[in-house]
Amino acid sequence: MTQPIDPVELTVKLVRCASVTPVEGGALVELMGLLESAGFDCNRVDRGGVSNLYARWGDKGHGRSFGFNGHTDVVPLGDEAAWTMDPFGAEIKDGYLYGRGSTDMKSGVAAFAAAAVDFVRETPPDGAVILAITGDEEGDAVDGTVALLDWMKAQGEAMTVCLVGEPTCPDTMGEMMKIGRRGSMTAYFTVKGVQGHSAYPRRALNPVPVMARLMDRLASHVLDEGTDHFDASTLAVTTIDTGNTANNVIPAECRATVNIRFNDDHTSEGLIAWLRAEADKIAAESGAVVEMRTQVSGESFLTPPGELSAMVAKSVEAETGVVPEMSTSGGTSDARFVKDHCPVVEFGLVGKTMHQVDERVRVEQVHQLKGIYTRILQDYFA
Ligand SMILES: [Zn+2]
Repeated sequence: MTQPIDPVELTVKLVRCASVTPVEGGALVELMGLLESAGFDCNRVDRGGVSNLYARWGDKGHGRSFGFNGHTDVVPLGDEAAWTMDPFGAEIKDGYLYGRGSTDMKSGVAAFAAAAVDFVRETPPDGAVILAITGDEEGDAVDGTVALLDWMKAQGEAMTVCLVGEPTCPDTMGEMMKIGRRGSMTAYFTVKGVQGHSAYPRRALNPVPVMARLMDRLASHVLDEGTDHFDASTLAVTTIDTGNTANNVIPAECRATVNIRFNDDHTSEGLIAWLRAEADKIAAESGAVVEMRTQVSGESFLTPPGELSAMVAKSVEAETGVVPEMSTSGGTSDARFVKDHCPVVEFGLVGKTMHQVDERVRVEQVHQLKGIYTRILQDYFA
């Protein structure tokens, strides 16, 4: 008889792979070895200097398939001297496993890999279990989950439903799952005036008050009051600057950046049109030139509460005794790509220390997470 896979031991092995994006660091190789030994059909899907892993147990193309999505890349250490534990040592102390990626999200990957391997060994399901694991979630994310989904499409591979194993719980294990995410976009403005002597402002066209007026209008505009499943959309002015160090010079240019997190009341296209209109209005009023460039990180999306979210919630409650809130809060995740492929929800560990110095995970919660993922698989294929 084969022993059950210990998700903590697997997390330790993964944390010891120094896989700061885009370095693979041995993490995917480790997983591939485990999955192949359990009969998973594994494919490395590498693109643009990034490594990804696609693993499927069961036949492709007929029957249902349950997919897990996650990443093995990690963010840089930040202030290395401030770490009290070896960031790639995976040391366990006082019930916590320490290391970069211990919560975000090598423990999540280890938990679903362990659950999947044990599940197909013990109760081979009528259908497929798929693991789509990327090495490019913390970076630009262009050659990560997107590359996996492109490859899957070309190969006729499909997930019927997908669970992303990112940390979703703010403080207590089990308290929150994500059924959607807000969209995110950034706009970069440049106001071009006329440089001049500050003693003779009439001979110049000062771009700074023009920009200040524009930013005030954008920031004080109410985008919406929130929707059924989302909080109100927000706009944050993140910088206004000229780089001007002289007190007797009116600068020629002023730049500003705004970041918008938007709900399902908006699309990036609609927001860009609004920003453009406000910029044009200010330009017409002031006589300055107002340029704008935008970058869209993702549209908002929602997997309306239904079978998939109910199944996850039931498993979380059974394992932890906590009923998870179905939330759409927080930043973006790779679910924003998966949502174009199949229904997707997210559930994972307590994310308190992710991206921080001394990132750590409660060891018992990694076992709980494997338990939850196992219940979900059993329920799905029951
Ligand atoms: Zn993550």
